[in-house]
Amino acid sequence: MMENLSNLKVLRELLARHGFTFSKALGQNFLVNPTVCPRMAREGGAGPGVGVLEIGAGVGVLTAELARLAEKVVCVEIDSRLLPVLDETLAEFSNVEIVNADVMEVDLQALLAEKFPGMEVVVCANLPYYITSPILMRLLEQQLPVRAITVMVQKEAAQRLCAAPGSRQVGAVSIAVRYYSEPRVLFPVSRGSFLPAPEVDSAVIRLDVRPQPAVDAPPQAFFRVVRAAFSMRRKTLLNCLSGGLGLAKGEAAALLERAGVPAGARAEQLSLEQFAAIARAL
Ligand code: SAM
Repeated sequence: MMENLSNLKVLRELLARHGFTFSKALGQNFLVNPTVCPRMAREGGAGPGVGVLEIGAGVGVLTAELARLAEKVVCVEIDSRLLPVLDETLAEFSNVEIVNADVMEVDLQALLAEKFPGMEVVVCANLPYYITSPILMRLLEQQLPVRAITVMVQKEAAQRLCAAPGSRQVGAVSIAVRYYSEPRVLFPVSRGSFLPAPEVDSAVIRLDVRPQPAVDAPPQAFFRVVRAAFSMRRKTLLNCLSGGLGLAKGEAAALLERAGVPAGARAEQLSLEQFAAIARAL
């Protein structure tokens, strides 16, 4: 059964039999390129002794590949209409559990502790694109005991999420990702690899979660500074920080002086260490 799921005729027949129609609002674009899931599962770190948290099962193409390689797979899927489909497509696997819930509402700490006691855990998912960043920030900010997060996202999102400090594409989200992890793009995936085909191409990225944040600064102050610094495009750091942190110009200048960061610099040029220095000076 699973071998055929990337076959469009088999997939369409399966969905029709269950009366399933795609929900655009839930970001339902299912993978139909047979080479992508095995590669994602492998490069995402699924293997003996490893527990995998997946988000969004669809009809279970990636779930099945993860189940083949990993010790155990737990998948959070919001759409209850997919449950009978998954019962059928994943029938051969005894190491898969589907949790019918919204990943933005689930207590992930408790879920991981309950489902993967003492196991190394990785996250692997083809994310619903309407909430890519919120899901990733939720996974990272909770500092879950997870070794790596390997996800399919839109190509532009992949570039932004993995952008290095100092590069043109860097934004607040790139800095946040780097604070918690070491990101890299694994491989591109064309829009034709999905049913229905989305309007843009995709890419798989992997975030290797750091045991400790990259720099020494309390998260709350660090992210206040980062958000303020990127609040106005093409403005100097001095202007952004005084606006974003509600400081008088003179106070913002003194803050930058204490941190040893030039007031005329722009957020895109700053290293993580410089953001941390400002957060500590705050
Ligand atoms: N893994 C499948 C694949 O690769 O073909 C499906 C990927 S599809 C891009 C995203 C999946 O996430 C859909 O099955 C959708 O129902 C589910 N989903 C959307 N929003 C969700 C949420 N908030 N919590 C959990 N699952 C969600």
